[in-house]
Amino acid sequence: MKTLANKKVNLLINNQEVPTQNYFEVRDPGKVNELIGEVALGTSEDVDTAVKAAHNAFLSWKNVDVRERVRLVLAAAGVLEDSMSELKYLLVKEHGGVLWEAETDFYLGNGVLNYYASIAKDYMESEQIEDETSWISVEKVSKGVVGAIVPWNMPVILTMMKLAPALVTGNTIVIKPSPTAPIALSILLQKMAEVLPDGVINVIHGNAEVGSALTQHPLVKKVAFTGGTETGRAVATNAAKSFKALTLELGGNDPAIILDDAQIETIIPKLLKGVYTRSGQICFGVKRIYVQENMIEKFYNTFCEFVDEYKVGHGLDERASFGPLNNKKQFEYVKNLIEKTKQSGATVRELGQKLDPDGWDNGYYILPHVVKNISHSSPIVSSEQFGPIIPIIPYKTVNEAVAMANDSEYGLGSSVWSSDFEKALAVAKQIESGSTFINSHSFDSLSLGMPFGGIKDSGIGRELSGESTLSAYINYHSIRYVK
Ligand code: NAD
Repeated sequence: MKTLANKKVNLLINNQEVPTQNYFEVRDPGKVNELIGEVALGTSEDVDTAVKAAHNAFLSWKNVDVRERVRLVLAAAGVLEDSMSELKYLLVKEHGGVLWEAETDFYLGNGVLNYYASIAKDYMESEQIEDETSWISVEKVSKGVVGAIVPWNMPVILTMMKLAPALVTGNTIVIKPSPTAPIALSILLQKMAEVLPDGVINVIHGNAEVGSALTQHPLVKKVAFTGGTETGRAVATNAAKSFKALTLELGGNDPAIILDDAQIETIIPKLLKGVYTRSGQICFGVKRIYVQENMIEKFYNTFCEFVDEYKVGHGLDERASFGPLNNKKQFEYVKNLIEKTKQSGATVRELGQKLDPDGWDNGYYILPHVVKNISHSSPIVSSEQFGPIIPIIPYKTVNEAVAMANDSEYGLGSSVWSSDFEKALAVAKQIESGSTFINSHSFDSLSLGMPFGGIKDSGIGRELSGESTLSAYINYHSIRYVK
């Protein structure tokens, strides 16, 4: 493991590091007295400089042959692959995950770059339609500067999901990482930018003011945002002023419906991956579990037995099942939610073990919690917890389970668990969400080419797919010749 000396991160504009007047601190959420680094706090003026640099680069990049763009994006993918062994430790130290979660972030990011590189050339072909009266060509034209804003939970993949489709289609990009996991991502992006023409990748840092300036800049033609639903509303409002194209990947409150023929011992280990990976801080994590009332006692007891094996500690401790929450605000929100759930009269079990009881209060650690005897209108069921606590809710009939699953403002992911594929499929089709997985609900549920995104308050648009993602990064230009 490399030494993790404190890092100083500047803005990246036109392949130049740009210092700023003020810097903000990034601390290890598992050891909050440890400083990881200092990051340049940008301003609206810095956003303007970065966007203008990206626009200038766009004027040439859009004319680069798609095969050459693909070659350069693949070179950037190679940089990502080579950087992982060094940067994964740093990522763990700033975002609070365990090592395999940080590695997954890099692997998935690399997969996304390679996927878009593999489909770009065919996609960018224009389409000709000819009949007796006319000849039509439908051209695909790059949009311009893309503003990409990402959260802290899986910063690498969530950035690559925007960067890859943007670049292969001839756009340039200005990226704003989250203030609570900006360092590993910024070092990576700087290295990737070096293999591309100046100004194709730019990185700015800061808070809502900086994000807001990016979403309003007249030269930004598309905004791709991943983050919370309320922030997404502000982004949509700002982007609407100049009718920017918009992709919003927002919060989720994913239901998992366990049908009465599911094999409890077989499904629980898989289900747990969906609940507690990244300490529950995954947008499409399992956030509520519906179990047929005749099997709920057995399910609950077995589930708790498994969860009690969990060990919570620092992400660099190999024994840790999961790490701390990423930041104080999220930590206090989840603590408060647990308290409110206890006060509501629900049964709340705190399980698992603390790996380092002495260091526990020096990090945003929360043990895994399991809840039963809870009202469906309770906040732990109706809101996104984004932490290691899960409610288990009984249902009588499958129709009732589906109605409860759909009784949500969110609609990101969902899952159905059964020994009978046809039965599960029939239920899956009734669920209102962007994706429904059968007998899985974690990273392995995603597939490149399968559209990923939400409905309702979970967002607009799709990432990870071919046509439905790439079409959000181009303008159609129709040319018609009347014979
Ligand atoms: P957040 O909304 O607080 O922040 C996301 C990003 O937006 C950060 O970079 C932040 O600095 C920036 N930002 C804040 N205010 C802004 C504004 N007014 N204009 C523009 N940008 C602004 O989210 P978070 O706490 O970092 O992440 C957690 C949330 O992200 C959860 O709700 C989670 O479900 C969601 N998320 C969704 C997906 C998905 O694909 N649907 C994936 C991961 C996370």
